[in-house]
Amino acid sequence: MANVVVLGAGVAGHTAAAFLRKWLGREHQVTVVSPKPDYNWLPSNIWVGLGLRTPQSVLVPLKPVYDRVGIVFKQARAVTLFPEGDAAMPSPHVEIEYTAGDKNQQRELVPYDFLINATGPKLKFDATEGLGPEHFTNSVCTADHAFHAAQAFLRDVEAMKHGEQRRFVVGSGHGTCTCQGASLEYVVNLEAELRRHGVRDKAQVIYLSNEYELGDFGMGGAHIRKGGYITPTSIFTASLFAERGIEWILQAHVEKIEKTQISYITLEGEHRTLDYDFAMLLPPFSGVGLKAINASGEDISAALFAPNGFMRVDADYAAKPYEQWQAADWPKTYQSPAYANIFAAGIAFAPPHAISQPHFTKDGLPIFATAPRTGMPSATIGKIIAESIRDQIAANGHALRTASMAKMGAACVASTGTGLTMGSAAAMTVCPIVPDYQTYPEYGRDLRYTMGEIGLAGHWIKVMLHYLFLYKARLLPGWTLIPE
Ligand SMILES: Cc1cc2nc3c(=O)[nH]c(=O)nc-3n(C[C@H](O)[C@H](O)[C@H](O)COP(=O)(O)OP(=O)(O)OC[C@H]3O[C@@H](n4cnc5c(N)ncnc54)[C@H](O)[C@@H]3O)c2cc1C
Repeated sequence: MANVVVLGAGVAGHTAAAFLRKWLGREHQVTVVSPKPDYNWLPSNIWVGLGLRTPQSVLVPLKPVYDRVGIVFKQARAVTLFPEGDAAMPSPHVEIEYTAGDKNQQRELVPYDFLINATGPKLKFDATEGLGPEHFTNSVCTADHAFHAAQAFLRDVEAMKHGEQRRFVVGSGHGTCTCQGASLEYVVNLEAELRRHGVRDKAQVIYLSNEYELGDFGMGGAHIRKGGYITPTSIFTASLFAERGIEWILQAHVEKIEKTQISYITLEGEHRTLDYDFAMLLPPFSGVGLKAINASGEDISAALFAPNGFMRVDADYAAKPYEQWQAADWPKTYQSPAYANIFAAGIAFAPPHAISQPHFTKDGLPIFATAPRTGMPSATIGKIIAESIRDQIAANGHALRTASMAKMGAACVASTGTGLTMGSAAAMTVCPIVPDYQTYPEYGRDLRYTMGEIGLAGHWIKVMLHYLFLYKARLLPGWTLIPE
């Protein structure tokens, strides 16, 4: 019997656990450890954050799903890995701390034969003074954050209906943020909602970002093929914003947020301030802070994790100048080089370096978008790790499965509205996510699969994805037919 433990029940972890349960015989155990009771389909938080959907509509309670399919669920957070075991338990195990129920705050040792770290990001609101829902700004990173963002947004809409003016600022709350696709989606939705509420003339909408150019998205931007033209995403995004009257401030590192004022420094080293009424600014991410201890009781966290807390896998982490970065630096199997039975999926794995070119102020302060690990790659990585573990348990001699972000594509669908007739979306696909200038010397990407469209069709895709992925998350009949 093999014991597979998955840490995290987000896009990567939930996918990995579901496939493992489907593929492994009942003599093998699959356990998921995750601190929250629900799976959250994060892309639809954008709609929750404007009052267009309820938090419940983007959440799937995990326990009933896992009970039905035979996955053991522990509502707990992983704290420390013991990959060699220790005196308390000689086999590899992970120490967890329950976050709910009778065992709340109790610790437990969970043994494993294989471990998948899919713990996603720590939301580092504390990196910027005044950032986050506990201080002055809103977030859509969790369904609960998004719900509170919607309440604040709707209060401002009411005030505008009574003649008041408002300034909305959406974007990055720090110079090293990633996930700009989510900010872009939120800002275009917010602008559309202001129009729908009939208060657009009372509002100024500003996109504030650490990106070097519009449309960078932490992927160094892209060139998209549309109607026979090849257009940089900077132009595509600029025209999207210009049409909607959304202003933008780029190359900004937010230093401090007060009740009505954002202070930021630009790449040029200028300190500026921006007054605001409503702000939705994403935090920078790090790993969730797992530790690792060896059999002698020594802290080996540095061997398993990069300094940013994400887990080292089979990437080339040698420090190199930007000009020498290659697609081949990116991991393929997501196996830990330190322990062959440990893998990391989704945001939890440490990228070898950024994808966008790094930029620093003259004093060395980094201001550029860091590498995203979006939904599609996170789920795909979760799935191929599950396949690799299945093969190893079956001892069928199959090599580890691979899925490099320098081969995979990603999609960003910034869609407004939730119905079937009233929406419009700016949909972009990029392939591969990490540019590969050896295979595609001109643009680094395969322009057959790097596209952009604006219109109702993209919006239908977004609505369809909402229902399909929530159906899939419930592991209902036929869920495997829905692709990652
Ligand atoms: C608002 C928003 C909109 C987005 N829109 C899109 C989109 O349109 N398209 C797209 O491709 N991507 C989108 N993304 C990105 C996408 O959601 C992420 O890439 C994806 O969720 C990453 O999956 P993950 O499993 O690595 O992390 P997550 O989905 O964040 O899951 C991490 C899991 O680990 C758990 N966890 C945390 N700490 C611990 C611990 N100590 N022990 C155990 N478990 C732990 C968490 O509770 C969670 O269950 C969006 C993100 C946001 C925030």
